[in-house]
Amino acid sequence: MTRVYLALGSNLAEPLNQVQAALRALDRLPHTQRSATSSFYRTPPYGPPDQPDFLNAVVALDTTLTPLALLEHTQHIEQQQGRERKAERWGPRTLDLDLLLFGNLQLNTPRLTLPHYDMHNRAFMLLPLIEIAPEITLPDGTKATELLARLDASTIRYW
Ligand code: ATP
Ligand code: CA
Ligand code: CA
Ligand code: CA
Repeated sequence: MTRVYLALGSNLAEPLNQVQAALRALDRLPHTQRSATSSFYRTPPYGPPDQPDFLNAVVALDTTLTPLALLEHTQHIEQQQGRERKAERWGPRTLDLDLLLFGNLQLNTPRLTLPHYDMHNRAFMLLPLIEIAPEITLPDGTKATELLARLDASTIRYW
C-alpha cells in the first residue's frame, strides 16, 4: 500500500458538484481507499485572473495501483467530467486532479512528475495537504509546513 495525496481543483460548472462527483469516482477506483479528505477551500485563480475562483481540496488515498495506472484513472475521471484541454495555461476547468505525493517516490517522466513540480509554490495545495497530514514531509525531507510558511495563504477561504 502506498499513501498518495491528490489535489482536486474546479472553477467551472458548479465546482462543489464537480468535486463531490470526483470524490465518488475516486471511491470507485480499484485497489484504492480514500483515507482522508480536506475541507473545501475557495482560492483566487493561479495564473490568468479573468476566471472564477477555484474550489481546491486534497485527499489521501491508499493504493496498490502503480503511479501511471493511478494517473490514467484520474485523467479518465477528468475526461468524464468534461475536462477540455485548452491552449491557455492554467485556464478555467471543470476538474483538475494533480498527484502531489506518491509515497516518497521521486519521478521525472514526460507524463508524470512526482512530487508535483510546483506544489512548493502553491498555498492552495499545501494548506489542505497540511490539514489532513500535519507532519507530512516531501521525499527530500522538507516539511510541508515549512514550505507553506514562505507563502501568502491569506486569500484562501473556506468554500
Ligand atoms: P499544472 O500541472 O501546472 O498544475 P495543469 O494541471 O493545468 O497545470 P494539465 O493540463 O492538467 O496541467 O496536465 C498536463 C500534464 O501534466 C498531464 O497530461 C500529465 O501527464 C502531466 N503530469 C505530470 N506530472 C503530473 C502530476 N504529478 N499529476 C498530474 N499530472 C501530471
Ligand atoms: Ca483568460
Ligand atoms: Ca494543476
Ligand atoms: Ca493537472
